[in-house]
Parts: sequence; structure tokens; C-alpha cells
Amino acid sequence: MKVLVTGGSGFLGKRLKIYKPDWTYISSKDYDLTSTEETKQMFRDIKPAAVVHLAARVGGIKDNAENQALFFYQNVMMNTNIIHEAYRSGVSRVLSSLSTCAFPDKLEHYPFFEEDFHKGSPTETNFSYGYSKRMLHVQSAAYREQYGMNYSTFCPSNLYGPQDHFGDERSHFVASLVHKFANFCDNEVIELWGTGMPLRQQLYVDDLCAIIPILLEKHNSDIPLIVAPHENLSIRKMSQIITEIEDGRSASFTFNGRLDGQYRKDGDNSMFLDLVGGYNFTSFKEGIEKTYKWYIENLKE
Ligand code: NAP
Repeated sequence: MKVLVTGGSGFLGKRLKIYKPDWTYISSKDYDLTSTEETKQMFRDIKPAAVVHLAARVGGIKDNAENQALFFYQNVMMNTNIIHEAYRSGVSRVLSSLSTCAFPDKLEHYPFFEEDFHKGSPTETNFSYGYSKRMLHVQSAAYREQYGMNYSTFCPSNLYGPQDHFGDERSHFVASLVHKFANFCDNEVIELWGTGMPLRQQLYVDDLCAIIPILLEKHNSDIPLIVAPHENLSIRKMSQIITEIEDGRSASFTFNGRLDGQYRKDGDNSMFLDLVGGYNFTSFKEGIEKTYKWYIENLKE
């Protein structure tokens, strides 16, 4: 089956290519998916049987908070074009990535479940990114309902791992932690954003790369399937774990108290586990060690 992957030059797309080298990967340099014409051309050129849609405008808290209009426009345009042009081209299978960031900011219970997805607004710092992901879910479900297409979606929790965006404004917490930890000078206190209190489910990117082909085969419903590990660690705890890396140096951290984001946003993974028949997630300790090693071997000056 010819599978087209959008977002092929991104963090997740680059790692996926290692797992599925026979799939076709595109970036914005090949086709600008905010353009309907270029999206149409892409389907005419590639003629895929299925699409794994990963392309998105993604960023860290600050980038997201400061560019709400851009995040809205680019994501809504890309998603709308991909789903509609896949349908018009007769492509009956599209698997799209949403994000647990799109779940409501405040819920009465945690972990949350797939049925909670539309129950309240996403958090303010990624309000438009969150709503664009929800619209991708709505659109996929609508084309399933009206046109009988197998368009389905999944919600990964925060990703981290080798080839992440380290040390730029798109960095998420773990990438930024690795970058700072690998580059601090002796006696320096490393400053981290926020209070250290929020809890996060960090998903090792290669786990998701192994999971995506299984979802492509098995996830045939309108459920925005939560893909998240069991561990739900505080930012402070994760900062401690990195200092326990075997060849790690002793470091101390200070939290600047600004822009914490949601206190917690952990999702229940039991629907996912039922669908795939169980999955052994990489522990944060193991994943951060691999990520740190990759950083030292590839990016440390
Ligand atoms: P990323 O590294 O920022 O990559 C984004 C990808 O989208 C790049 O390949 C980029 O191409 C492509 N893209 C952006 N604008 C485009 C356009 N106008 N036309 C065509 N392609 C365009 O993102 P990622 O971290 O790999 O995320 C992949 C997916 O996972 C996204 O859907 C994201 O929402 C989801 N997700 C990510 C995380 C996370 O923690 N990273 C967590 C949950 C869900 P260029 O390189 O050419 O710009």
C-alpha cells in the first residue's frame, strides 16, 4: 500500500522514516499544504492509497502563546485541505495526529478520557492550536459519517527524543532540559520555565513511530484515541531524573515561576491498549538517557 506521510521533515516524521523507510514523506518545501492548489497537486503526483497526516504548525508554550493567529490559520488550512482533497482524490484512509494539548483546560476528573475531548476550552496558551486539532477531529468524523471514509485521529501526549527541536523557540520542555543540561557550565544554576509543579506524560518518540503503523491498520473509528504512557511525572521530577544519567554531571535547577501551562493534562490510555493489545512504553529514565546520548553525539559542540 502506498502511504503518504505529511510532516516528513518534522521531529516525528524524521523518526518515523527510520521505522517505515518505504513510505513517502513530504515537507512544506515539496508542497505547501495551506494552499489548496498545492495539496491537490500533491494527491495528483503521489496517488497515495493512505495518508498519515502529521504536518502542523507546532511550538513550545511561548511560541504558541505569541502566534495564535498564525497557529490557527496554518493548522486549519492544512487540515481542511488534506481531508477534503484526500476525499476528492478517492483516498479512503487518513490517520491524523491531534494532541492531548487540545483537551479541555479544566476537567473535574483526571486522567481524562476520549469522550471529554470537546467538553470545555483548551488552555489559553494553545487556544487556537487546540481548536484547530478539534476541528481536524470534527472534519475526520464528518467525512466518515457522510462519505463512509476511514478517517481517524489519535492524540499523542508530549513527545520527546532524538532529533527533537533542541535549543530553539519551538523547544518543548524535555528538549530544552536536555539542551540546557548538556551545555551548562560548572557552578551554574540552570533556569527552567514555570514552577516545576505541572505533571506531564512524556511519550518517547520512537514508541509513537512503532505505534503509528499499528494504528493505521487497526484504528477505524471516530474516537480521538489517546496515546500516552502510564508515567505522569512532575517537571521537577523529570529535572531530577536527568541528573541521574550515568555520565551526568551534578546540576542544580531554579524555576522562574512564569508560564507554567496546564497543571496536569494526563489522559487515560486504556482504549489505546485495548485496541493494540497492550504496549510496553519506554520509561522516562530510559528515554531521557537515549535522548541525552543522541544529543551529545550529534549536537554538542
Ligand atoms: P514539527 O517538528 O514542528 O514538524 C512539523 C512538520 O509539518 C514539518 O515537516 C513541516 O515541514 C510540516 N509543515 C508545517 N507547515 C507546513 C505547510 N504549510 N505545508 C506542508 N508541511 C508543513 O512537528 P512534530 O513535533 O513532528 O509534530 C508532528 C505531529 O505530531 C503534529 O501534528 C503535532 O501536532 C503532533 N504532536 C506533536 C507533539 C510534540 O510534542 N511534538 C505532541 C503531540 C502531538 P517543514 O519542515 O518544511 O516546515
